Amino acid sequence: MIPKSHPRYVSLMTRELIVEGVRKGITSTQGLIAQGRGEAFDYLIGEKSTQSALAAEKVAAAQLLLAKRPVISVNGNVAALVPAELIKLGEIVNAPLEVNLFHRTQERVDKIIKHLLSLGAQNLCTGSDALIPGIDHERSKVDSKGIFYSDVVLVPLEDGDRCKALVGMNKTVIAIDLNPLSRTAQCANVTIVDNIIRAVPNISKFAGELKGLSKEELKEIIREHDNKETLSFALNEMKKTLDLL
Ligand code: ATP
Ligand code: MG
Repeated sequence: MIPKSHPRYVSLMTRELIVEGVRKGITSTQGLIAQGRGEAFDYLIGEKSTQSALAAEKVAAAQLLLAKRPVISVNGNVAALVPAELIKLGEIVNAPLEVNLFHRTQERVDKIIKHLLSLGAQNLCTGSDALIPGIDHERSKVDSKGIFYSDVVLVPLEDGDRCKALVGMNKTVIAIDLNPLSRTAQCANVTIVDNIIRAVPNISKFAGELKGLSKEELKEIIREHDNKETLSFALNEMKKTLDLL
């Protein structure tokens, strides 16, 4: 048991959730390494949502609300860390969830689907009848009525190659990635440099607040966003943390 008084309680509990995900067979062992890499960057932003992260989360909410066919992609880490929060976001912005794994096995896909259903998910895309062009077979499988058909896709943690391929399909790709230097972060249309455990509830909060706005007002929020600038702000926030030491 990790005592609540521990100064890094949240981070340690998050680690426990990922380990539990591996034990349940919903998270891959490689997912442990990805989480470790993310934690290092989280340290550099002070383990809190920075100004640039909050700005990107608001833009993500506007994009999802404006989308005609938004989809939320779920991988093994996300399913272990924020399954209920993603279900809630999906309900707010009216987007289905689709399991989309880098280290794909049908067994793990089925386990994640069961996990999401047990938590009350009602809107799931479960097909694997379409392929993302230019990606090798197993990694390119998607639902023809889900990610394949989407206009806006939220990929909380995505591989760089697939992120690029989705952008190449003319989709608006929103990535959550603590590493502003990763290929995923660099090629997404909207990059949120924040921990998914904070980012997903923040997007939901913004989506709730923005729901009453007109299409024009939502478009204005999107027009003001410059992803390259957001990434350089995120790097500067990390640099400031280092300068303080
Ligand atoms: P590239 O994108 O350049 O192909 P990569 O960074 O994707 O390489 P991975 O280890 O597969 O390599 O990616 C995991 C990514 O997810 C890392 O960039 C890491 O910072 C990020 N990450 C891991 N855990 C979290 C988390 N909890 N919240 C947000 N981002 C996370
Ligand atoms: Mg990546």
